[in-house]
Amino acid sequence: MTGKMYGPVPGSAIFSGISGRKSIIMAANPRIASVAEGIFRAAKDTDSALIMELARSECDLKGGYTGMTPSLFSEKMNEAAEKVQFDCWALHADHITIKKGDAAEIESTKQLIDAQIAAGYTSFAIDASHLFNFNGKTVREELEDNIRVTSELALYIKNRMKGKEFGLEVEVGEIGRKDAEGLILTKPQEAVGFVKALNENGVYPHVIAIANGSTHGHTYDADGNVIEQLSIDIARTKEIAQALRENNLQVGIAQHGITGTPRELINLHFPKGDIVKGNVATFWQDVVFNTLKVYEPALYRNIQEWTLEKYRPANPGKKDRQIFSGNCKFAIKEFFKEIYSVEEQTDKAIRAMAYAESLVFFRAFSSAKTASLVKKKLL
Ligand SMILES: [Zn+2]
Repeated sequence: MTGKMYGPVPGSAIFSGISGRKSIIMAANPRIASVAEGIFRAAKDTDSALIMELARSECDLKGGYTGMTPSLFSEKMNEAAEKVQFDCWALHADHITIKKGDAAEIESTKQLIDAQIAAGYTSFAIDASHLFNFNGKTVREELEDNIRVTSELALYIKNRMKGKEFGLEVEVGEIGRKDAEGLILTKPQEAVGFVKALNENGVYPHVIAIANGSTHGHTYDADGNVIEQLSIDIARTKEIAQALRENNLQVGIAQHGITGTPRELINLHFPKGDIVKGNVATFWQDVVFNTLKVYEPALYRNIQEWTLEKYRPANPGKKDRQIFSGNCKFAIKEFFKEIYSVEEQTDKAIRAMAYAESLVFFRAFSSAKTASLVKKKLL
């Protein structure tokens, strides 16, 4: 058999397959692809449907900051899935971010989407949440540009997929945006108004990312130490899910920024089923760097020195460990060759760590058996 047997399934099949279940599907971000095999193996062993994703900043036509183009990312994920013989995963374009919304940016975004489709992506997240009109008097006015750009790109994807099913994520409320009073959270009427407007344009997203208190990456205390906490506003998240349901909108919530949330708290307190997609990104990068620290101390030291030298000037007053933690992602492309040619013992440790950590995530997300459900749907 060819690799096709273990190729990605449509994201839409995953979201409809788990509909009504109190489960969260992990969307793993393998910025360093060496973690993928362990994640796939744990998904297979727990019968958990899975999403593999990278954001535009991480993976674009020039390789983003991970050094992976869409086709290289796809190749690496397909390879890992085939090795493990796991057949229930989606290849997702996370944060296809549009910041200005002008013609040039839309055009370059379409080129990226073409490359993603050519590489076999089965799911897409359009993120035009930055296009927020703070002078708008109604929800519609505030979200007008987001609605326009999201609709145009979603319809473009639909057209280019030529009848093939795909998953669609949209975003309202920029994740991590703050004002004088702190994080700005998405309101239920914004989420509802946004999805309704998209529906009117013939666009039907499966999941919506909201601003509900999380931030991307780690958060730190004054000494630069990583803080572990439950930062999402559970009550607001439930209100938004409830409002979407009451308006007959079949849209689940995509939770971004899960790194740093203790898994026992995810397990006990996350509204599973309201949240249906859980993005785990920086966590996997930490797994690799923590392994390199011990297995490849010389490489780790080089990465550390390069990162600190480059990013110290822009971060006056910050502790080195925070500067490293926040910027080591930019070293991935710089040290691409070295990171992907470490000793087999190192890769083995990364695989084992990724496997074990994935088991814990799948447990916390209650995702066991979801792969079988999705496959039933596909038949
Ligand atoms: Zn995100």
